[in-house]
Amino acid sequence: MTELRGIAASGGIAIAGVLRIREQIKSGTFEGGPAESKKLYNELKILAHNEFGRLSSLSGDSNAAGMAELFDSYRMIIDDPGFEEAVLGRLDAGAALSDAIRQSGEELAASLVALEDDLISARSADVMGVSDELLRQLSILGMISDDPEEEFEESSESFIIVSKRLSPAQLMRIDKRRIEAICLSEGTVNDHTSILAGSMGIPCVVGLGPELLSEKYEKLVVDGNDGIVYLDPDDDTVRRYEEMKEKFLDLRNKAKLRLLERPLTECGRIMKVCCNISSPDDIDEDTSKYADGVGLFRTEYLYLKTNDYPTEEEQFEAYSAALKKMNGKDVIIRTCDIGFDKAVDYMKLPNEQNPGMGIRGIRISLERPEMFKTQLRALYRASVYGRLKIMFPMISSIWELREARRYCEEVKKELKAEGIKYGNVMLGIMIETPSSALLSSSFAKEADFFSIGSNDLTQYTIGADRINADISRYYDPHHPAVMELIAMTVRNAHDKGIHVGICGELASDIQMMGFFKEIGIDELSVAPSRLLEIKMNLLGEE
Ligand code: PEP
Ligand code: MG
Repeated sequence: MTELRGIAASGGIAIAGVLRIREQIKSGTFEGGPAESKKLYNELKILAHNEFGRLSSLSGDSNAAGMAELFDSYRMIIDDPGFEEAVLGRLDAGAALSDAIRQSGEELAASLVALEDDLISARSADVMGVSDELLRQLSILGMISDDPEEEFEESSESFIIVSKRLSPAQLMRIDKRRIEAICLSEGTVNDHTSILAGSMGIPCVVGLGPELLSEKYEKLVVDGNDGIVYLDPDDDTVRRYEEMKEKFLDLRNKAKLRLLERPLTECGRIMKVCCNISSPDDIDEDTSKYADGVGLFRTEYLYLKTNDYPTEEEQFEAYSAALKKMNGKDVIIRTCDIGFDKAVDYMKLPNEQNPGMGIRGIRISLERPEMFKTQLRALYRASVYGRLKIMFPMISSIWELREARRYCEEVKKELKAEGIKYGNVMLGIMIETPSSALLSSSFAKEADFFSIGSNDLTQYTIGADRINADISRYYDPHHPAVMELIAMTVRNAHDKGIHVGICGELASDIQMMGFFKEIGIDELSVAPSRLLEIKMNLLGEE
């Protein structure tokens, strides 16, 4: 048994077999001429060298036997003259760079296997590891794209996903009912894969390091509460965690009884506690019963699980299902916030140097009115099934809100002309840029409500990328500047008499409850798996 410690990204305990997802990068489209391709190839070599160097030093820290040497040997393969000659030869013959790298890797790997020496042929996997890394670097540079169709092993069993990384789009394409937990060697708590796991109620541990990627184990115990993972757990560990799981369920049942006896709303209400979801499937019986509403429906996941824009009808089904399940409670549905770490090929977003600052959030909707209006039509049509509130993401200037509202008016007019009914829908904005927080007094005159997105507000206030694990100590959601902007937003919202919630990960940070009560925030919106715990905490009970 090996114990690995990572970062707890979504709570819960799982004991199951493993499904390994290896990064597959298929044929590329970069068609630069030989000279340009050779220049790019030299850049890729440096990037891959750096990456293996980084992994090698990480392995040294974590005592991962043999891993540091493995990454060092990968670096030697990058410089292998035979490999390089094969790539350059193919480029001279007119091959695309991605094809030249992949074919040269396959050729060298096959020639090692043909030597029929166990030790040497084992090196063929290392060669493929190197060519995959070079292709991955090419993909990061935006020169080729991942094939969206991942192939998952056929089996009816549920499993624990093990991978280096997992994009939100990949996660959305796996049958959620079969995923017991997610373990990643890289990743951060605030990236969208971790957040998605939380909204789906799937335990998740990230940043487990390269040892996780060893092929030598088949079963895992995952402790998503403390960020611990056991590879090939012994019987005692399995028993201990089975008992913990039972105890955890018992505690949840007690909390439910307690909340039924004395719901938060009836005991001198402190604040509403709602849930964040990414699909109507995330609303289970407990969520519709114990949550005070949906505080954030991240609709971009409807766009991520398909190979084309979701139709008005598909969206209408999803939004009306969420409203029906919540049975008259408020449901805040955010318009598509795609871009940055949530991207899909069919949208053909530009290859940006700095996607976190680029075409994401409301900007995509304003640039693609057809897409925006399709979503708004589906939302307004669904509004007759409950208490819908529409929210716009990443707003930073007043004109953006005005333009978004104009599209709402257009859509309402069209629906009216077609004789289609719609309800009375409030329009709010996310406060997730310093600009919107600083201007919250003006925004409060034109928006019907606010919800603070602390994940992005932290990223943009401090200027620290939320998905880069290497700078996680700089990404501090408790930073005084972030606290000040949150407090200022609440003051300005209340001055103008509008409701303000918080739906970023900070909303479920137990340490923050005192601060939230003090500033008088109206609503917390958290992953469904955290709902009971947060409500019990607000009631003053563990
Ligand atoms: C946020 O930024 O805090 C937020 C809730 O939005 P997302 O995490 O989806 O970017
Ligand atoms: Mg955000």
